[in-house]
Amino acid sequence: MDGTGGAAIIDGKAFAEGLRARIGAEVARIKAAHGLVPGLTVVLVGEDPASQVYVRNKGKATEGAGMKSDTIRLPAGTSEADLLALIARLNADAAVHGILVQLPLPGHIDEAHVIEAIDPAKDVDGFHLINVGKLHTGMKDALVPCTPQGCLMLLRDALGPLDGRSALVLGRSNIVGKPMASLLLAANCTVTIAHSRTRDLAGECARADILVAAVGRPGMVKGSWIKPGAAVIDVGINRVPAEGGKTRLVGDVAFEEARAVAGHITPVPGGVGPMTIACLLRNTLIAACRSAGLPAPAI
Ligand code: NDP
Repeated sequence: MDGTGGAAIIDGKAFAEGLRARIGAEVARIKAAHGLVPGLTVVLVGEDPASQVYVRNKGKATEGAGMKSDTIRLPAGTSEADLLALIARLNADAAVHGILVQLPLPGHIDEAHVIEAIDPAKDVDGFHLINVGKLHTGMKDALVPCTPQGCLMLLRDALGPLDGRSALVLGRSNIVGKPMASLLLAANCTVTIAHSRTRDLAGECARADILVAAVGRPGMVKGSWIKPGAAVIDVGINRVPAEGGKTRLVGDVAFEEARAVAGHITPVPGGVGPMTIACLLRNTLIAACRSAGLPAPAI
């Protein structure tokens, strides 16, 4: 609680800054000790404005952590065969430890083909079937999708061990909902996954000690749905109209209502969002260490 009767705010921005600083220190250490410079290559096909911003931010953050950053921009008309050939070259390049193909891809390219072409050891998004399978079967060397990994880190930091808590994951996408549920299960939570066909969403939410909302619907989760004292992680990023013809970002949770009931809550922006890139850097560092036969740093 923050002294005003509201939930404690989980400051993802500050946590992500700390994580990035620890990653930067570890990068400097392995560079000095082993001459190893982790390298991340991001591939962007086409000119989607949001993707361009994401890719620019990823590049800056990678360099900021002392890693080698490369961004390959391809025209929207690039064929699937040419993209697969590029991935084959990156797979074979020992200086590239992480490969990220920015999604969504233009409609003529099959995203599944592209993801499966990436060497699982370089799949820093954690979307390859090998990494998905490793996560779901509890293998420790999975590269885990960045956003749910970030949510888990914030939860552990706020709550300590999660054993025995009931967790509701709202949303079942492959990039957030499903891996989030797997991570919470591995952390010994009792996990429920809700989605658009769930009958009593409010009732399901009300049982949860931990509620992770990843639906993409502004303010859908009401304060009255939340169990008093629960930890609420809001993954949603929704742009809504604001005063003066501007727009602003809001999450999937009605923040002010929820804050009055919850024990902990992430804001939007400044909650989960900054963790995604920090966890991408973490995955790149882990991939680089493994490629050199070094133990993955415990950060
Ligand atoms: P998807 O659209 O892939 O999945 C949304 C999920 O929400 C689906 O499982 C869907 O159910 C469910 N859903 C939609 N409407 C309802 C409803 N009315 N009631 C119950 N469930 C519903 O989204 P993503 O998982 O990719 O992303 C979710 C949100 O997280 C978005 O706002 C996105 O922008 C944000 N995001 C944020 C990131 C970050 O870095 N912070 C990273 C990735 C995503 P069904 O399966 O039945 O259709």
